[in-house]
Amino acid sequence: MRRTPKLGGLPGRVRRSALVRSETSSSNSCLERPAERSVANKRFLRDMAGIDFNALRNTITMEEVLNQLGFQPVSRTGDQLHGPCLVHGSSSPDSKTFSVNVRMGRYYCHKCQSKGNHLELWAAVHKLAIYDAAVDLCRDLGRDVPWITRW
Ligand SMILES: [Zn+2]
Repeated sequence: MRRTPKLGGLPGRVRRSALVRSETSSSNSCLERPAERSVANKRFLRDMAGIDFNALRNTITMEEVLNQLGFQPVSRTGDQLHGPCLVHGSSSPDSKTFSVNVRMGRYYCHKCQSKGNHLELWAAVHKLAIYDAAVDLCRDLGRDVPWITRW
């Protein structure tokens, strides 16, 4: 028996193009002087503050990420969804190469072999490092980034 995929009725959102990212090229000129380098390093550390990835993974679900990416499942068996791959971009909307378990929060593509959790999925689709993907995903969902405040 085949049930209507739960995610199928939700509107697929047009994926936002990658955010414009500021490059860290402006501070290179002042690295000669030790004092300024120290300040620059401190500023760098604060900019690279830690992200509580556990909190992020626990507050954002795989379903949210799939919805945000406009995933349209072709079939659903229990917690297992199948559909076109978001990572390599299946040519056919009927493709079932992409498999995701929404309860476990894991995905796997039988064609391009991309796999992981929902944060790794966001990173793979947008070709971002995990850190950048976490910030990007939170912004896209309108959530606060769960920073670890140590400074
Ligand atoms: Zn794939």
